[in-house]
Amino acid sequence: MSGNPALVMRVVASAYTVAEKAGAIVRKVLHSGELGIVEKTGANDLQTLADRLAQQSICASLSRRFPKLTIIGEEELPPQEVPEDLIEKGQAEKILQKGCPEEFKALKEEELVVWVDPLDGTKEYTEASRCLQLQAVAQIQHKGSDTSQTHSTALWLLDNVTVLIGIAYGGRAIAGVINQPFYNYQLGAGAALGRTMWGMPGLGAFGFQLQEVPGDRRIVTTTRSHSNKVVTDCVNAMEPHEVIRVGGAGNKIIQLVEGKASAYVFASPGCKKWDTCAPEAILHAVGGKLTDMYGKPYSYDANVKHMNSAGVLATLRNHEYYVSRVPQSVLQALKSD
Ligand code: AMP
Ligand code: MG
Ligand code: MG
Repeated sequence: MSGNPALVMRVVASAYTVAEKAGAIVRKVLHSGELGIVEKTGANDLQTLADRLAQQSICASLSRRFPKLTIIGEEELPPQEVPEDLIEKGQAEKILQKGCPEEFKALKEEELVVWVDPLDGTKEYTEASRCLQLQAVAQIQHKGSDTSQTHSTALWLLDNVTVLIGIAYGGRAIAGVINQPFYNYQLGAGAALGRTMWGMPGLGAFGFQLQEVPGDRRIVTTTRSHSNKVVTDCVNAMEPHEVIRVGGAGNKIIQLVEGKASAYVFASPGCKKWDTCAPEAILHAVGGKLTDMYGKPYSYDANVKHMNSAGVLATLRNHEYYVSRVPQSVLQALKSD
């Protein structure tokens, strides 16, 4: 690649290292055990210190290098000076080396909108933290004997947590970065944790091995903590061979591109643009689709409504099948934008 990468490639290269830094913050807060949990709209809509610090880090780092970007983060935070140690200045060299797709070469900073979910899967993050704390207490009470089985059941929730940075132009998700801070948590103490995936339609997706669900199995992944009757009616209407209930929009898209699930079905308002922008870009980069339950794409313009009111339907293949199975009663319960 030339010595003068396109603006959008420089933004993605920064977003990559910024997401890694945010992932490190998310790990650090978990290990401190002091989560600083705040309820936003209720007990299933939480914010922790990790959400706050990670958002500060991401938004301040990107806007310092690219002051004309429009950046929209999930958390409403009071305006405040961001400490210097939260600022990430690096750029992923391997992204700068890639050629920019022709259609994005001339994009300007002020034309891009960045959607930031500093910690997707907060509910699961708090549950995993509680599990780790119980494990630590049990270890003290049993004076170091192996109690790891006792409270290990909720640790899988660590993989539900992701950091999402999506980049949009003209209403379309054109690049996405997902950091999964606890990837490889199973390897135990001392293992290097975390991975970062990124993608751009027209260029490809990187940081994972693309896989499809074997055969014609319909494995539907959906929410574990924001369900209701409409959500489950819609899942059942897909005639799934298997249903997986996990947390996080980012995590569910990872399941789609790694062959663990065939469709992400969430017939409910609840997901916001920062939940879907980065995942959509990566999914699209490998030929997948993300729409509302009507099969209509969302717009990621700066002035759109944040809520994905008509639900989220995402697939790697066979999107039309899943759209065609959505019951009328479900569509009536959801409003298209
Ligand atoms: P889930 O699959 O339940 O983890 O949801 C995916 C994303 O959408 C997460 O960021 C959730 O916080 C968000 N979300 C989904 N439903 C709701 C809801 N009813 N209230 C608040 N946030 C929600
Ligand atoms: Mg989220
Ligand atoms: Mg979040």
